[in-house]
Amino acid sequence: MKIQRKEKDMETLYKSTRGAERAVASSKAILKGLADDGGLFVPEKIPALDKTPEEFAQMSYQETAYEVMKLYLTDYTEEELKTCIARAYDDKFDTKRIAPLTEADGAYYLELYHGATIAFKDMALSILPHLMTTAAKKNRIQNEIVILTATSGDTGKAALSGFADVEGVRIIVFYPKNGVSPIQERQMVTQKGKNTFVIGIRGNFDDAQTGVKRIFSDGALKERMGAAGFQFSSANSINIGRLVPQIVYYVYAYASLLKEGRIASGEQVNVVVPTGNFGNILAAYYAKEMGLPIGKLICASNENKVLFDFFQSGIYDRNREFVLTSSPSMDILISSNLERLLYRLVGGDAAADAAFMEQLGRSGKYEITEAMKEGLISFYGGYACEEEVAARIRELYEKCGYILDPHTAVASVVYQKYARETKDGRKTVIASTASPFKFTRSVLNAIDPQYDAWDDFALADELSKLSGRAVPRAIEEIRTAPVLHERVCGKEEMADIVCGLLGI
Ligand SMILES: *Cc1c(COP(=O)(O)O)cnc(C)c1O
Repeated sequence: MKIQRKEKDMETLYKSTRGAERAVASSKAILKGLADDGGLFVPEKIPALDKTPEEFAQMSYQETAYEVMKLYLTDYTEEELKTCIARAYDDKFDTKRIAPLTEADGAYYLELYHGATIAFKDMALSILPHLMTTAAKKNRIQNEIVILTATSGDTGKAALSGFADVEGVRIIVFYPKNGVSPIQERQMVTQKGKNTFVIGIRGNFDDAQTGVKRIFSDGALKERMGAAGFQFSSANSINIGRLVPQIVYYVYAYASLLKEGRIASGEQVNVVVPTGNFGNILAAYYAKEMGLPIGKLICASNENKVLFDFFQSGIYDRNREFVLTSSPSMDILISSNLERLLYRLVGGDAAADAAFMEQLGRSGKYEITEAMKEGLISFYGGYACEEEVAARIRELYEKCGYILDPHTAVASVVYQKYARETKDGRKTVIASTASPFKFTRSVLNAIDPQYDAWDDFALADELSKLSGRAVPRAIEEIRTAPVLHERVCGKEEMADIVCGLLGI
């Protein structure tokens, strides 16, 4: 009896931020993606790390991943989890360290772009398909799983690459036709695999994300799907199976700094995250709550600075012009994962969370209370405008020969502003979320306007020369690959397109 109770205590269950559902095991939360009431799954309580930083410092990335993920995915067996990890973090990554740190100009850049599609989304989307197919087996799911995803550019390709030709799964990706970089688009529309579908929408990322959320919460459609032997899931960062693998690299980064003697044991480190949907920085927050010595969580926005304003004023207001920037994966006005933070700020009061989300849906706006604002003490919000981003790319290149992509450059600018403003001298890790090779045009134009007339692949070769790094495999692959997906639709047509693709 006693032992049983102990094991139960260690189990991490997931409930909806909006509350109506019973708590479910992790594999069920991963399969569903979004809760039926439209809320996001959150752990009932955030588990504490049960290894010390010194112990982590002796571990490989894969070992670290196991020690962190086992605390969240408690209904996976050790063998299941280790198999998923081994299949995900293998030689798809071009470095054994998986997530290496590079020091430049007084900060540590945590390079999260060494995976198959050269953006940080690979960190989670390399493992999500394995977690999901394992979950389907564990729960004896007979239906075919339909992964429905809205992308601001990087999630789409990383999800397509992870799920292509996975048995029992189809994947449908919607992206804003005019809202991604040429390389991002090319990566998606050349995707192979008989179970992959890529559709451009006439609208922006928020339109795509809202459309997908609407399809998910359409009860009648869900029934039709079920009758035809399908069920939806999500590869977006609303899926807890995306969030949990992202906690790992913060633990790994801290342990790497300790191992290399750059910090003392227990020393606090600040983290800067270029933010869009608030998934990556939420993972850093969870890592801090688990006991990792993180100081400030610095949330960096581009000109779509809805989060900056939120941290300033406590008012979240999406009623503003949507700006297309050189960091398209952060061109987002509705940061879905903020709901998970909000849920913590209201002390797990699902009705209060639901009320805020209802306001957001109705008026595009909500304001948090003074008491809730106090819960934001460990966050700092900053933003960078386009000129600052370009200037920072050029400056760091000239100073250190290190080249940032525009998303990471947003974070780098915000870090400089933060350090100037606060004089906080703690060591700082900057999440480097994409390879500059994914955004060659913006990056090289920032360094020298003469590149304007060059074609994308000539630019990649030039970037290789300037940076001293080889052109990544992900870029070589698309040089000559044929376009396989050409469909474009209106944002109102998304549900019809999905039904058409599934033949229901
Ligand atoms: C997705 C993405 C981001 C934003 O991450 P969120 O988890 O959505 O906040 C930042 N940079 C790049 C390159 C991305 O692909």
